Amino acid sequence: MSISPFRRYDSIKSRQAKSFSAAVQFQDDSYHILDIEIDNNGFETCQTGICDFDQKQIALFKYHEIPDFLKGNPYVVHGYRSLLPFSMCMKSLLFWTNETLNIWTHFLGFFIFLLLVLYDNIVYLPSLGGSLSDHIILTIGLMCFMFCMLCSTGFHIFCCHSERASRRWLALDMTGVSMGIIGCYLPAVYYAFYCLTIWRDIYMFIITVLSACTLMFQLHPHFFTHSWFFTRVAVYVGLSAYGIIPTIHWIYLNGGISSPVVQMFIPKVTMMYMLGSLAFSFYITKFPERILPGKFDYIGSSHQLWHIIIVVAFCYWHKSGEEILIYRMNHECPA
Ligand SMILES: [Zn+2]
Repeated sequence: MSISPFRRYDSIKSRQAKSFSAAVQFQDDSYHILDIEIDNNGFETCQTGICDFDQKQIALFKYHEIPDFLKGNPYVVHGYRSLLPFSMCMKSLLFWTNETLNIWTHFLGFFIFLLLVLYDNIVYLPSLGGSLSDHIILTIGLMCFMFCMLCSTGFHIFCCHSERASRRWLALDMTGVSMGIIGCYLPAVYYAFYCLTIWRDIYMFIITVLSACTLMFQLHPHFFTHSWFFTRVAVYVGLSAYGIIPTIHWIYLNGGISSPVVQMFIPKVTMMYMLGSLAFSFYITKFPERILPGKFDYIGSSHQLWHIIIVVAFCYWHKSGEEILIYRMNHECPA
């Protein structure tokens, strides 16, 4: 059966309608993974309108043209993908859209942490004489970061596929954020309370419970709606800010603010909270595109800055974790 060729001057609405009907027509040959329809006829579906001829380009839409589920930041005006089949979502990795940098910042972040897992386990820890638990703690921390990066990459690739896929992948993206925060807590609590095993276990337990509560909270039917944006942010800010309590306790247990070990590590904790606050402030305020709508659609938007600062913060925290590990190796616990 021949498919009518793409016509450049079709209206956007009719092109989207055509792609819908084509998707229905070919749905017998498709199956779903994580709400992504893997269609064996993606090319044909695509040809009916939402991608340019020969798949050399993806049709990009303006904010007022996209479906409601893709809306969220009206200050990013151009460059939206809409209702792409799976194959074109994957190919959009190579096209210049308003999601390209969102995808690649965290996809590259994933490979940075993958390389760190390999380097730490094969080179760094053996050279220090690290124990099995050092290997486990650093590896779990980095794997939390990798999970966070991969879920975020998946969300930005597949959010334009369908409303169901968008919701499913936003849930995974948010789960990734929780895992990223856990990845920050785990090595920090383990090494900070290394000599105080009772407190270490108590704080590990509390963080596990809080993280589990956050993940449970995500099951609420309104959690991923636009109207719950600030509730979502409050949950993750709360989970991050909780770390101030064990930090203050740790300062007290180590002899106060003037103690050498506190002087060494408090600037790192402060720096980490500053990076986190900076990242969250871009995320919430939608600065700089709020000031100049449409000028940061492809490069420099708040979400891209949020992504980059998160990667930098995770790298910084991992490096700080290694420094406290070395400190612990060189200083015996008091008897
Ligand atoms: Zn993102």
